[in-house]
Amino acid sequence: FLTINNIKKSFGSGDSRVDVLKGINLSMERGEFCVLLGPSGSGKSTLLNIIGGIDAADEGDICIEGERMADMKEKKLTAYRRKHLGYIFQMYNLIPNLTVRENIEVGAYLSDKPLDVDELLHTLGLYDHRKKLPNQLSGGQQQRTAIGRAIVKNPDILLCDEPTGALDYQTSKDILKLIETVNQKYGNTVIMVTHNDAIKDMADRVVRLRDGMIRKDYRNEHKIPAEDLEW
Ligand code: ATP
Ligand code: MG
Repeated sequence: FLTINNIKKSFGSGDSRVDVLKGINLSMERGEFCVLLGPSGSGKSTLLNIIGGIDAADEGDICIEGERMADMKEKKLTAYRRKHLGYIFQMYNLIPNLTVRENIEVGAYLSDKPLDVDELLHTLGLYDHRKKLPNQLSGGQQQRTAIGRAIVKNPDILLCDEPTGALDYQTSKDILKLIETVNQKYGNTVIMVTHNDAIKDMADRVVRLRDGMIRKDYRNEHKIPAEDLEW
């Protein structure tokens, strides 16, 4: 469903050149929940940004259902991002003068298969907060709103870059659980970067990035060995 072929990416030039990704290969099935681990600076965000079409690789390609992203025309790529890709960041970036409901609806813009917003509000535990503005919400509620915005279009691929980085442990756990529920309920393919070890009960697969390469890639039977959650 999603294949990543020999992705290479460097930043800078001459003496200050850093080869961040040195040939990443990864192939994912639809509905898979994959956790991407690796030390700070190992290129996790860079890889997500390339998969999300926010950044371009120097070499290699990404195919979605057999179609190379590089071959998609700009218009098609934009449509792809809008319709099929959800992105959750550590920062929520909600629109301050829109309510919870409206912030979520923004994500459905141009989607051809949006989820029912009321049902989603219930799933996210936000129904009673739907008329509030972002500054009237806790951090966890804001992040749940951001998750709603990312998934309301029912994206094929959900990219999450440390979605719980700004939250306390328990709230983080609840948010990860919620993303798991979404993955199971709607079958979106999830690639998540997180440092939260609560993930070990949820992920189908763990990929570990180090020195620009994938050093480990295994499917797990819902148990990630403790040493693999360290970095
Ligand atoms: P963290 O866990 O700290 O978020 P990461 O694994 O997400 O780290 P990246 O953000 O992908 O790491 O960065 C990988 C490397 O690429 C770092 O050394 C970073 O300084 C460098 N880098 C990332 N983006 C750029 C850029 N736009 N220009 C120059 N260097 C960059
Ligand atoms: Mg990062």
